[in-house]
Amino acid sequence: MKQRYTIVAHCYDKRGILISSATNNYDKSHPLQKYFAERVGHNEKIYLHAEIAAILRAKDKQIHRICIYRYGANGEALLAKPCPVCIEAIRAFNIPTITWSTKEGMVTCSLDSLNTSKQLNLL
Ligand SMILES: [Zn+2]
Repeated sequence: MKQRYTIVAHCYDKRGILISSATNNYDKSHPLQKYFAERVGHNEKIYLHAEIAAILRAKDKQIHRICIYRYGANGEALLAKPCPVCIEAIRAFNIPTITWSTKEGMVTCSLDSLNTSKQLNLL
């Protein structure tokens, strides 16, 4: 069986107020997840990722920052850099700042410097 992780995404508005949060879900698919998965050629990734679930929950509010955390079995922080599907969604929703956990601490990146092709090589 494939390893499962807990991934949590938080969306903040311009004033730093939390507007939505969500975790990944290995059982629940969603048409928006499917749409972005197909756009980047990962057609199998139909189950809701935390980032896209949080974006959906923000509804029509403008998201200024999305923070993504991934935890291991013992609660330790792991690399939570968004996958190509989520990067595509973050781009489409025009979220300017992306922060994710790593084993060494949090990393913050602007939307402009996220490179999808580089990201594909990592996976
Ligand atoms: Zn993803």
